[in-house]
Amino acid sequence: MIHKNRRAKNLRLSVNKQGQPVLTIPFLCPKWYALRWAEKQAGWIQKHTFQPQKFVPNQVISLCGKDYLIIHDPKQKGNTITNMEIVIGGDLSFFNRRVKDLIKKEFLSLIQKQVREYAQKLGVHYGHITLRDTSSRWGSCSSSGNLSFCWRVAMAPDFVIRYLIAHEVSHLKHMDHSPYFWKTVATLTPDIMRSKNWLRYHAQELQIG
Ligand SMILES: [Zn+2]
Repeated sequence: MIHKNRRAKNLRLSVNKQGQPVLTIPFLCPKWYALRWAEKQAGWIQKHTFQPQKFVPNQVISLCGKDYLIIHDPKQKGNTITNMEIVIGGDLSFFNRRVKDLIKKEFLSLIQKQVREYAQKLGVHYGHITLRDTSSRWGSCSSSGNLSFCWRVAMAPDFVIRYLIAHEVSHLKHMDHSPYFWKTVATLTPDIMRSKNWLRYHAQELQIG
């Protein structure tokens, strides 16, 4: 994105809210000069901007705690999942979106099962369950008992998935992060610290699709 600014004194690179690079050009600076300058800043751009990687055929992904090879078969109409493979049909240009849709569908049914189990254990009621694309929050629980999760969590190890679901379901009992809350989470999963550590060091691996 190029931004001509009458008041800008120097050529400047920044990043907008969408994570895209913005090149600010002083009014009198020729565009060709600015672009040549920006080309030399490729390293900076790569380091500071967020470019999500897309899913590609013949890649191995982790889905709900299991590894799958994702294959593209343009002759196939829908998608199929076997023990170790996911076959995605249709045109290659839809591949990334179809993988994402499949992940969301599988993940939602896993969450629904797990939430039901944990809620029963704690004797709490819950509302709707939705999936979102939030990079800063992995899950949330509203005061009316609705739960939402970031779909990318589907690609985390199963102990992390269980922890995040246990965390949000426990909020149905305690809406805070008090010691009582953490005690409740611990009754559902033994992996609190392990999961927090995993999320601290591996969250970047979930930024795909
Ligand atoms: Zn929380």
